[in-house]
Amino acid sequence: MNTLKIHNLKKTYSNGVKAIDNVSIEIQNGMFGLLGPNGAGKSSLMKTIVGLQKPDDGSILFNDADVIEDSEFLKKQLGFLPQYFGVYPKVSAFDLLSHLAILKGVLNSNERKNQVLALLDKVNLYEHRKKNVHTFSGGMRQRFGIAQALLGNPKIIIVDEPTAGLDPEERNRFNSLLSEIGEDIIIILSTHLVEDVHNLCSKMAIINKGNILIQGSPTDLIKEL
Ligand code: ADP
Ligand code: ADP
Repeated sequence: MNTLKIHNLKKTYSNGVKAIDNVSIEIQNGMFGLLGPNGAGKSSLMKTIVGLQKPDDGSILFNDADVIEDSEFLKKQLGFLPQYFGVYPKVSAFDLLSHLAILKGVLNSNERKNQVLALLDKVNLYEHRKKNVHTFSGGMRQRFGIAQALLGNPKIIIVDEPTAGLDPEERNRFNSLLSEIGEDIIIILSTHLVEDVHNLCSKMAIINKGNILIQGSPTDLIKEL
């Protein structure tokens, strides 16, 4: 069982905005929903977990590894699908994912090929592997985004507002992919969509103005909203 423990995390930007105001959360395997309106602090929290910014105070531990200080952890065990992930050059899905695998440190070419094909299969893009990614639809792009987040077999992936801009069918397809993956690893899903958290997540927290207002199981919490 994997555990991510965020303890008394704080981040104030230089303009004085307290984007993360003493946040503590404990997350175990499965899908964890971080629900909050625009400006609540979701992206700030995600960016801090994936190492894009340092908190002013507090700790983030993953199975006792120090996520803030341990760059090996970030490289090996964590995947990230940022909001509006968007690097779609004129290369095939296979080539782009292979390139990202090299950056992630998957240097053995046989291992890389196997992993890339297995991931494209997992996200239902295997038959499109030779197509240029710049021709992909929104839903295909987001599924590709999940494939890149899963490179290197991370134990946790962070997914920020992944279904923004997808039509209902693509959103459903994307969400069932997340559910499948969430059986094996931790997924933190940041979203403003109550319905997605309700349908997908086993645990959730509601964040507003940098504060966690309440956390628990969606079935218990959402009926109080
Ligand atoms: P820090 O306090 O972490 O040093 P800064 O205030 O220097 O962060 O801002 C970092 C970056 O974020 C800058 O490029 C800045 O322009 C940008 N930024 C500033 N305000 C906002 C905001 N409200 N939302 C998103 N990005 C912002
Ligand atoms: P959310 O992802 O929930 O929309 P954010 O984490 O982007 O929330 O923003 C939280 C607050 O911090 C907002 O008031 C936002 O304007 C501010 N903010 C975000 N990034 C920066 C930054 N780099 N510099 C200054 N303020 C920021």
